[in-house]
Amino acid sequence: MSMQIQFLLRAEEMPTHWYNLLADFPEPLPPPLHPGTRQPVTPDMLGAIFPENLIQQEMSPERMIEIPQEVRDIYALYRPTPLLRAVRLEKALQTPAHIYYKYEGASPAGSHKPNTAIPQAYYNKVAGTKRLATETGAGQWGSSLAFACQLFGLECTVYMVKVSFHQKPYRKLLMQTYGATVHASPSSQTEFGRKVLAEEPNCAGSLGLAISEAVEDTVKTPATKYALGSVLNHVCLHQTVIGQESIKQMEMAGEEPDVIFGCVGGGTNFAGIAFPFVQRKLTAKKKTRIVAVEPISCPSITKGELRYDFGDTAETTPLMMMYTLGHTFMPPSIHAGGLRYHGMAPMVSHCKKLGLIDAVAVPQTKVFEAGVLFARSEGIVPAPESSHAIAAAIDEAVKCREENRRQVILFNLSGHGLLDLAAYDAYLSGKLTGNVNPC
Ligand SMILES: *Cc1c(COP(=O)(O)O)cnc(C)c1O
Repeated sequence: MSMQIQFLLRAEEMPTHWYNLLADFPEPLPPPLHPGTRQPVTPDMLGAIFPENLIQQEMSPERMIEIPQEVRDIYALYRPTPLLRAVRLEKALQTPAHIYYKYEGASPAGSHKPNTAIPQAYYNKVAGTKRLATETGAGQWGSSLAFACQLFGLECTVYMVKVSFHQKPYRKLLMQTYGATVHASPSSQTEFGRKVLAEEPNCAGSLGLAISEAVEDTVKTPATKYALGSVLNHVCLHQTVIGQESIKQMEMAGEEPDVIFGCVGGGTNFAGIAFPFVQRKLTAKKKTRIVAVEPISCPSITKGELRYDFGDTAETTPLMMMYTLGHTFMPPSIHAGGLRYHGMAPMVSHCKKLGLIDAVAVPQTKVFEAGVLFARSEGIVPAPESSHAIAAAIDEAVKCREENRRQVILFNLSGHGLLDLAAYDAYLSGKLTGNVNPC
């Protein structure tokens, strides 16, 4: 009999609850602080931009939170996602290690981000929101939210970092196909955007700037709320379907992962695969090594400081306790747009502080080398973000070969790279770098 490669769960095996690690931390997570008073933020302070039900979830101490049936019905379009054993990659590396990956690129938008976009649209819908405003860098989050809004009958407006708007037209077109309105940021839609444009007409935009525009739009437009695709506790929470499914699928494979890798931008796809395994470390004394992988050029968790910092450039968000490079840090324009954030999710930062997870940083050329090797052996072209996790998994598998050690490796393949082929073009033609004016 040939070797089993795919581990598929039945529809009824999809998780019914999200897992909230806040309930199991041995030390409580430091609360977010008001930027003016430096006192812990109260739920009403966040009410201007988020609906009450999501604010409650952000602060909930409950361990298992039920996934609403309406959300599960939409998850069912692509969940449970497959978990596969990368036997051809193992062979290419001549490693005794077994390599498994969870494939989140199977969602309609092509990444893990719909896992939170769908519940965020749902909770806004039931709270009476008519329209959501958000920002997007390369467009992964914007397209996921556009998809989710369409299914719940909400309007969606996306401020897309200008350089990506022009250089990466396909995700913009995907958002428009899902029915969203997309503005290149800085835009003339907001006061802040107009001010930036007046000072610097050729400004290429940045994520921090686009956040400021989306927040201004939110507070000035009736029945509008804001949605964020990473960093926050409720986003980490929604992603835990990934790890819960992975635990069942590794059981089907009859193996226990020794080491787990996930790439980190704001930290949420990593949180998604990691937190259910972190719970088993805390409660069942499992020894799993869990590693966050980030780019060397934006090394928040490996080189940043653990302290209170702002989430945005304009200093409008609450202060969060996190590993940070400083909110004015402007990362170079690498091709993994989803990993260019100055901070790390507070929950992921707390895990690192408590020694529950490790972190490594990898250089861009190694990332693309890994992505190409993965595509050529397993067939899936990975998103450049996800290729960070692949690069770390490959390093580990090579070490296993050198030390003749048989290990079980699991990584999260957070998205496919079919809309990132321009980045592959840059790599294949030896022109990987390229700087823009971030202003
Ligand atoms: C957005 C994105 C990331 C980074 O975001 P996290 O919150 O760190 O998960 C990683 N991979 C893909 C494919 C993305 O779209």
